[in-house]
Amino acid sequence: MDALRLLSRSTGLKTKNPKTLPQNLPSASGHGPTEEVSDSLASRKRKRDPDVIGDVTGNENGVQPLSEAEVRQVQKKYRIKIVDLNRFRNSSESSESRKLQKEQSRLYPQPLTSFDQLRHRNVNKSLLRNISTQAYLEPTEVQVGAIPLLFDDSDEANEPNLLTIAPTGSGKTLAFLMPVIEKISRSHRQGDQRSERHVSAIVLAPTKELVFQIVNEGRKLCLNTGVNITAMRKGMRLHEGHAPMDKEEAESGDDVGEDEELDTVPEDSTIVKSDILVSTPLSLVHALDPSWKEDESSHVQSLPNIETLIFDEADVLLDPLFRAQTLAVWSACNSPSLRISMWSATIGSNIEELAVQTISERQKVLKIRRSQRPPLLRTIIGLKDTSLPTISHRLTYVATESGKLLGMRQLLHPSRPTPAKDGKEASPAPLRPPFLVFTQTIDRAQSLHNELRYDIPAPAGGSSRIAVLHSSLPDKVRSKIMQDFRLGKIWILITTDLLSRGVDFRGVNVVVNYDIPNTVASYVHRAGRTGRAGREGGVCVSFYTKEDIQYVKGIANVIAASEKAQIHSDSTAGALNGNSTAVSNAPKAQEIQPWLLHALPSVSKSARKDLKQHGVQSRRAVRADDDEKTKRLKRKARIGTQSGYEKREVNRKRGAIEHSQRTKEEPHAETKADEWEGFG
Ligand code: ADP
Ligand code: MG
Repeated sequence: MDALRLLSRSTGLKTKNPKTLPQNLPSASGHGPTEEVSDSLASRKRKRDPDVIGDVTGNENGVQPLSEAEVRQVQKKYRIKIVDLNRFRNSSESSESRKLQKEQSRLYPQPLTSFDQLRHRNVNKSLLRNISTQAYLEPTEVQVGAIPLLFDDSDEANEPNLLTIAPTGSGKTLAFLMPVIEKISRSHRQGDQRSERHVSAIVLAPTKELVFQIVNEGRKLCLNTGVNITAMRKGMRLHEGHAPMDKEEAESGDDVGEDEELDTVPEDSTIVKSDILVSTPLSLVHALDPSWKEDESSHVQSLPNIETLIFDEADVLLDPLFRAQTLAVWSACNSPSLRISMWSATIGSNIEELAVQTISERQKVLKIRRSQRPPLLRTIIGLKDTSLPTISHRLTYVATESGKLLGMRQLLHPSRPTPAKDGKEASPAPLRPPFLVFTQTIDRAQSLHNELRYDIPAPAGGSSRIAVLHSSLPDKVRSKIMQDFRLGKIWILITTDLLSRGVDFRGVNVVVNYDIPNTVASYVHRAGRTGRAGREGGVCVSFYTKEDIQYVKGIANVIAASEKAQIHSDSTAGALNGNSTAVSNAPKAQEIQPWLLHALPSVSKSARKDLKQHGVQSRRAVRADDDEKTKRLKRKARIGTQSGYEKREVNRKRGAIEHSQRTKEEPHAETKADEWEGFG
């Protein structure tokens, strides 16, 4: 299959000026198409070209596809790069430089610059209605670039395998859900109305929280489309011969997660009655084979009906921690027409290599002839592995562990801001909740929670405003905390990397790295819990101690790159306005000065690997076989100065005081309590 065929596929571009993108989308930060491109989009008239492959319905709206030069301009402005990986990887290394090879492998398929373009195609009308009901007015960059690649209504063989790297909060979920919903709906429309429904698409995500979130987003998109989506729950089976679909469950549109559990056996059913199944890899592997073991010879029952496999946060799923489970699911999907797509803000070259190799090996195992293999594409939005330019970063040196606690308390109880006076700069405005605070381990998250639990005064809600969430808690508790944080009942949520990936709390104002992250990718993802969907004003604060200095350079580089991108986007916005001073957002103060980057030491490869696997040494859990020196080091790094017993006693007394204060005061004190009213 030739990837070039994709080039001629039309999305039926409409005359809508893409500059109408809402200002708060990532696409709006100075990256919309130029007037020139918009004008040429606007002036297009219908011209049918019978030779255009895949242009079955694309011209029905009376416009012809963009020329390659125009697509290039659109891609440049939306910062989209699409590469044919088969061509890129097969080209000879010797004669051409890699840059030239890359350039020659670039593809310029028609973009989707407006959801309206789909109205004139044979797309499920309910799906389009559901998109507009959610107030998704215009596609974000990743949706502009990736949706048309997967939205093939002419020749299913053309659908590519796809790797997509796009920033945090840029709308990847919609970019992978929309095409798969349409694909399934199309197969229903084309008469594939089997009396018994089966799962034909699987979405894998690394955490239960993310699984529920994807199902919730999916249910809103699936409403009345005839397609349904569900989360994998323990006890479910994926056998042939499924029971008829439970319409109520499929189309209820109710949120899941907040009151459902992945590990609960549904009372009435053990068979998946859905088209799209969302799961963590382990839940799915165990559903296929409860005795599955993590060794190479371990195979699970095959899933020949799966046509679409989607990896959200693909780099985590293919990381050694999840790799065996993920590959077990992948191998079980043995349909020759399987298409796989992978999505993340960070896919390193080693993970990309693994993905490409596995795709090729699977094709060999399934005996798919070269000529019949689908295109293999990679889409990158913006710069690879960088943080969003809309987020501000603060890298704060606190010397010691106790310095962190002081720093944290200062964030919670900021002093009144002072205006600029006598040549002194104004103090920065205090940061407002909600805060999402990351620690290295579950124990540390727990200790920090114990330490800060009574820091919020009772009239403002007291200890109910601060919570801790980690994987050792029961599913029900996890769901409740997620729900309360979304509703704004919890203002400060302390957690581990469990929540660093994918979860979309729209209004998080501040991310605090109480402990520095173990990898640069983790920094990008943690910071990306703020600044979702192009929102401005998010701040990521990172504390670092003397011991962390050796690991900070990578983070500082990410911040410096993000600041550079912000300056660039501001100047682009200025240039587009025709006035470089008329930029609405004044550039933020630069956090990373060049001298700091020079001064920070580079970390060795082995130290980096050790950090990735175990975290900073002094913050790891104390082990029985630790020597005295290590034990001392770890004890010193403990959060707070009191022992667990003393702390519990103090907290018990403070809890009693808080309770009596709250009952003496108004019973509804917390509704009065101040500013923040939640994400809703
Ligand atoms: P990612 O997976 O890229 O981190 P998500 O898919 O979680 O991002 O989307 C982030 C936020 O953007 C969500 O709240 C989602 O509802 C919103 N969003 C997605 N697409 C659009 C769009 N086209 N217009 C406006 N908001 C969008
Ligand atoms: Mg996501």
